Amino acid sequence: MAKWIEWAKRVVERIDDPDRAQRTDALAFALQTELARLKPQMFDLHAAVAQLNIDAYDLPVVTEKVYRSVFTKTWKAWKGSDYARSPLQLSQRQLLGAVAQKLGLDDETTRRLEWETARADVTATFSSAMLDSHIDESEGERLLRLAACLREPLGGLSQDALRPAVEQFLRAEFGSLTSCGNYNPENWESLKASASRLGVSGDQLLLILRPQVLQWVRSLFASMTQYEKLTPDSWRQLVSLAGFYDVGGLELVTVLQPQAVVLVEHTLADAKADGILTTEERANLEWLLSEFSLPAHTIAYVRSEIDQLQLFTDIAQGRLPTWGYPTGFEFRAGEIVHLVAHAEYHRVRQSQRGRRVDVHNGMLVVTDNRMMYSSPTTAFALSHSKVLGIIEYRDCVEIRSGGKSAGFYYFPENKRLAAAIYSTAIGRANQRIVERQVEGISRNIPRDVRQRVWQRYGGRCAECGSDQYLEFDHVVPVSRGGSNSDANVQLLCRRCNLAKSDNI
Ligand SMILES: [Zn+2]
Repeated sequence: MAKWIEWAKRVVERIDDPDRAQRTDALAFALQTELARLKPQMFDLHAAVAQLNIDAYDLPVVTEKVYRSVFTKTWKAWKGSDYARSPLQLSQRQLLGAVAQKLGLDDETTRRLEWETARADVTATFSSAMLDSHIDESEGERLLRLAACLREPLGGLSQDALRPAVEQFLRAEFGSLTSCGNYNPENWESLKASASRLGVSGDQLLLILRPQVLQWVRSLFASMTQYEKLTPDSWRQLVSLAGFYDVGGLELVTVLQPQAVVLVEHTLADAKADGILTTEERANLEWLLSEFSLPAHTIAYVRSEIDQLQLFTDIAQGRLPTWGYPTGFEFRAGEIVHLVAHAEYHRVRQSQRGRRVDVHNGMLVVTDNRMMYSSPTTAFALSHSKVLGIIEYRDCVEIRSGGKSAGFYYFPENKRLAAAIYSTAIGRANQRIVERQVEGISRNIPRDVRQRVWQRYGGRCAECGSDQYLEFDHVVPVSRGGSNSDANVQLLCRRCNLAKSDNI
């Protein structure tokens, strides 16, 4: 914008006063000659202006031209001499100061004029220093001398037009410092030294590098959690590393929140893979929940999943829940109720006319020694000792027995829970393990397979892309010959897993 205004002004000037540049050049030359003749000590601006007939309109332009010319001479002499090894000599600086004073130029103006003169040299010196990846001591000294000549702090020199180039250099250096995971604190010290030689303080450097640092921390977290579970130790290391680069704990947790949500889901899916929540897995999940300030809805969801998994773990380990006595059933003294559930019972009959299915809608109760079923159309009890087997399918449970209780049971509310409680109750009553085939639970999928499958699906359901309620699933069920190979394992959300047909 400013450039355009300058340009427009020049155009107008040229139109109004086409000879101004030439005239002021001539006046400047005359004024400078007078200055040289009298030396600054004897020179008097008012007298010279009157003598040379310079009007008020031209005077500022003329004096600036004189100063620029004087400074250019000094600068060239300095550059071409041994003085280049040191800042401008005191005598040179004193002369420039006297000239400025006699010409009535203020400090701001002379600094600007000097900068305009030296700018190309400054830029060239910075550029050549930044050519290789390090600003060494001698390069740093040259820059310091330049800054001293121009009465600027080094930082002031690298402001302005040079700043984008300096920042780009520092970012690129930090990028190569942290790439390939071969981070070395010594390289950081060297980068800090380079920055300081470019006039960038440690605090400024951290500010400049902030986006890179955050990106780096994210990638470190990603690689830390890709194949290993996150431990308090490795987390502490990351916290202190981030702290070193001025990223506080709270900010770190905020920056990593999206990744932490994925990590928690992954940890949860891993814990679910064998259906058992170990003490260690539980402690790890609780720790993740407490360490990362996750969104409230995520915490609520994970907690309910942990509770659910804990319930199944308890059941699998023989600890069955107890229920109140439902109406409509007769219980023996001391009989304990472990399950009360709605169940649709499909009884299959084979007759000469073919296969026939009777459907009953009722309630199913599991106690410590039998299962009871009651509907408006049928009612019976099946002792745990008479059960030949339970097969859990995706959408129903088959009970095998010699009696009329045999058939398929559909539980609209929680089939998994019903099947788990019933099998454990049978096992406990019979003091033996009853054959319980389970489909859909990805028991025994090796950890490395799970890791690769998780990566393959990017932590999302293969069917609908959901990132919650994820479960490892055998494409071809194990009971039908499916293996635990990468190709046969996929990631599904619970809804898609339940919707998957049994008839593959
Ligand atoms: Zn899904």
